[in-house]
Amino acid sequence: MYSPLKHIPAIFVKRSPLQFTFFVTSRCNARCPFCFYWQERHSKQDELTVEEVEKISASMDDLLWLLFSGGEIFVRKDLPDIVDCFYRNTHPVIITLPTNGFAPNLILPATEEILERSPKSAVVCKVSLDGLYDEHDAIRATPGNFEKAMETWEGLRRLGEKYDNLQLGINTVFCSENQDRMDGIIDFVNTLPGCETHTISLVRGSPSDDSYKQVDLEKYRRAIDRLETEMKGEEAKMYHFALARLKSAQDLVQRRLIYETVRQGRRQLPCFAGRIDAVMNEVGDVFPCEILPEKMGNVREAGYDFKKVFNSEQADRVRAKIHRTKCYCSHECYFVTNILFNPMMYPQVAKQFLQLGSRKPGATA
Ligand code: SF4
Repeated sequence: MYSPLKHIPAIFVKRSPLQFTFFVTSRCNARCPFCFYWQERHSKQDELTVEEVEKISASMDDLLWLLFSGGEIFVRKDLPDIVDCFYRNTHPVIITLPTNGFAPNLILPATEEILERSPKSAVVCKVSLDGLYDEHDAIRATPGNFEKAMETWEGLRRLGEKYDNLQLGINTVFCSENQDRMDGIIDFVNTLPGCETHTISLVRGSPSDDSYKQVDLEKYRRAIDRLETEMKGEEAKMYHFALARLKSAQDLVQRRLIYETVRQGRRQLPCFAGRIDAVMNEVGDVFPCEILPEKMGNVREAGYDFKKVFNSEQADRVRAKIHRTKCYCSHECYFVTNILFNPMMYPQVAKQFLQLGSRKPGATA
């Protein structure tokens, strides 16, 4: 497996992305009212092709964490080829594939092909679950989604028996519509065979239905407290990739910081977006993160040279603005790098590390 240790120098020198998010498509087979990407509607013809992705990924340095996003990423039939470009060129330690689980006929064969072609990466598949049965379908405004997501889960679980580099998790978007049902959702996820992690993401961005953002922060706190108690218990879930225990400790620190960020309405720690994090959308626009609208450039216009965009004067201006404005958000992905690559956070991470349950990584309930 690719080692995460080669990225240690980034603790001290932050000059190129080691966490890279690629929005492969804005197309989706669901219509979730809380989606933060609903305003983007590029056509299939606009999307970067595999040939273009090959050139872009060849111009990048090695990655610690490659994250795909959308839209529903599996509606792109060429997803395995796109992942393969990055696998060969950037040697990602972790590849994350989030999905709404609605199309098992697309998801399962594509995931298996990705697993076959990416043997040295930990491939993390995260299925969305925001409620149980009809409640899930209602929250996502997508009839039949729960049943299909469970069919996808069972198929992924079987793939997990064949491929040791597959890691399975559930993600729940915490929103006004499910904030009173978190215990039931957590109980249900605890019974899912093969589940190695359950993350709860606070609804963010500008959803098409803004009422989904009317959350009670104390209810969010109760939900994360319960996950924390379970992570520190004997039956704790945990990924089985290298340094998974460290990742779990960082998760615990992260949830507290997100709660405090929203409660206090201010930044809790410096943000490294635009320095060791970058985002590219399906038409090649590059951003420091998923939230800020400030563009660093476009890879098509830069001859598919990612570094030319990332090291441009425009990118410097975006980085300077992030530093100057001390902007803050609750986006979980950026807390990962903001915590793991900030030595000031290590005492807190070490404390949580020592309090984690005694189960070995990979052991699931
Ligand atoms: S704090 Fe959030 S919005 Fe601001 S730069 Fe960092 S990730 Fe982006």
